[in-house]
Amino acid sequence: MGASNLGWRDRPAAEELGRRLGLPVYIDNDVRMYVYGEAVAGAGRGFRVVLGLTVGTGLAAALVEDGRLYYGGGFMAGELGHIRMDDVPYQCGCGLSGCLETVVSATGIARLARDRIAAGGEGLLARQFAGRLQELTAADVSAAHDQGDALAAQVMDEVGRHLGRGLSYAVTLLNPDLILIGGGAAAAGEKLFAPMRSELKRLVLPPYWQHLTIRRAELLDDAGVIGSAASAAARIRGGSAS
Ligand SMILES: [Zn+2]
Repeated sequence: MGASNLGWRDRPAAEELGRRLGLPVYIDNDVRMYVYGEAVAGAGRGFRVVLGLTVGTGLAAALVEDGRLYYGGGFMAGELGHIRMDDVPYQCGCGLSGCLETVVSATGIARLARDRIAAGGEGLLARQFAGRLQELTAADVSAAHDQGDALAAQVMDEVGRHLGRGLSYAVTLLNPDLILIGGGAAAAGEKLFAPMRSELKRLVLPPYWQHLTIRRAELLDDAGVIGSAASAAARIRGGSAS
């Protein structure tokens, strides 16, 4: 595996850890384990093809089909946050610009609200954070939306519509039975999901939409732990998680 922050490149970390611990060790990414946990033991139970995403500090996705994770040829499948959008101007941490997650993430929601206010946007949120705009978070935008703030509603609508557009590509390519949404920003619930749904419905062929269920994740913070345990158990059994 590689980890640029640790200076690792092509390091057999699972093997090294396994040797030290005297136990089998598997390494996988957090979003896959989260979605796998939800698919086998949470909101995804009973669905055959589950596309799960986490909207937190970033945006990422994973696909489970018949209890099996899809990895892609280079183990990079699911980086939905780095689809590039024409009308998104922001620089992404990945080095590209215009990535979906620069808008559809907790970070993105807060930045969009700050930018709208800096550009002269008014209202409750603008008054509340006058002179301390950098402290504004996605949770503040969500709370202001609850109190009827138009600017906050506009930001959530814009973020939701971007998510819907990003998902339209994934839905057309993968035809999921279920889209499962978790992560910190998913706490905004319908404020984000309603515009996402209407944009997604508008953009995909009707059979995809009619077939699709959209749900919030239900295991929340436990999903990754449950998914990791279930995935490791399946690998040890020689089963289907890997
Ligand atoms: Zn990116």
